[in-house]
Amino acid sequence: MSVRLLELKNIECRYGSTIAVKDLSFRVYPGDLICLLGPSGCGKSTVLRAIAGLEPIYNGQIILDQKIVSSASTTLAPEKRGLGMVFQDYALFPHMNIEKNVCFGVRHLSAKEQKRLCDEMLGIVGLGDYRQRYPHELSGGQQQRVALARALIVKPKLILMDEPFSNLDIDLRERLSLEVREILKDQGLTGIMVTHDQSEAFAVADKIAVLYDHTLQQWDTAYNLYHGPINRFVADFIGQGEFLKGRLLKPDTVETEIGILSGDRAYDWPVDTAVDVLIRPDDIVPQADSALKAEVKYKSFKGSEIFYQLQLTTGGKLLAAFPSHFDFYLGEIIGIDLDIHHLIAFKR
Ligand code: ADP
Repeated sequence: MSVRLLELKNIECRYGSTIAVKDLSFRVYPGDLICLLGPSGCGKSTVLRAIAGLEPIYNGQIILDQKIVSSASTTLAPEKRGLGMVFQDYALFPHMNIEKNVCFGVRHLSAKEQKRLCDEMLGIVGLGDYRQRYPHELSGGQQQRVALARALIVKPKLILMDEPFSNLDIDLRERLSLEVREILKDQGLTGIMVTHDQSEAFAVADKIAVLYDHTLQQWDTAYNLYHGPINRFVADFIGQGEFLKGRLLKPDTVETEIGILSGDRAYDWPVDTAVDVLIRPDDIVPQADSALKAEVKYKSFKGSEIFYQLQLTTGGKLLAAFPSHFDFYLGEIIGIDLDIHHLIAFKR
């Protein structure tokens, strides 16, 4: 395994007596794209700012390239860390044209070298024709690409992005997050991005750090966060679903009102333990002749699929996502079947 580029070891950050981040640890390897994901106020920006050297840490260590850059007693200055940063408000210099903005970090180099690098960076972000324009002559998405080019020009060992697309409309946000992923992957760069938007995290990240209540809840791939959340917070926060009451029959089997469910996970709780079982919308399929019936309480057309809120005749609720040609009406009693691959249960 390659040598880690960045390691956070049990870091704690405070603002006065307010704890913003506690006991947080993770490792980032070269080429990784990481997202810090969580609700507002959970500490994401503070973690990013601590990595950048913009916030001191109260406890623990930040190790960059095998060197301690932050600890309770030291904070290496941001400009000495060799990092690139992109923030949500673009922060371009309004009175400088795009070329000058992009070259800001290399303005000590010769004019010829600056031009060469600027051409290369604007080429990477697809804005080769815009070097003479001013920021106000560019769209939000273009400005954010300039901000990225400006961060990339110093060839940072790590690029930090704080909600870089949150000022953009949703279509552009999705497109740009994929573009940025491609650019960073092509360049073999390592990046950490803060977002509160899970679809953005899913689009960009190799690994996602889910933060809540100032601590790391789970560090995993998007797939595993969705199919294997380790606690109720992650289960609720990532994706959609409903909990059904159940009891454990065997380590990998529970009994619920929709029948006996088995999965690939084993829980070492005693038999008969009361549990809540997470059922995702994609765990349910329409099946006209099924004995399991539910009433359509609400529907929301999404284009390729329709989201249904279902009420079981036995009392529980389910969410389902069916291909949109299954167009049931409100109040209709429909047959459903289960297609559960992952049994996710939490002790009640
Ligand atoms: P996020 O990025 O997840 O929204 P932040 O890292 O900005 O969260 O904030 C984490 C916690 O620290 C919050 O409770 C916030 O109110 C607090 N906080 C952030 N910045 C400051 C500050 N400059 N002074 C005091 N408290 C702060």
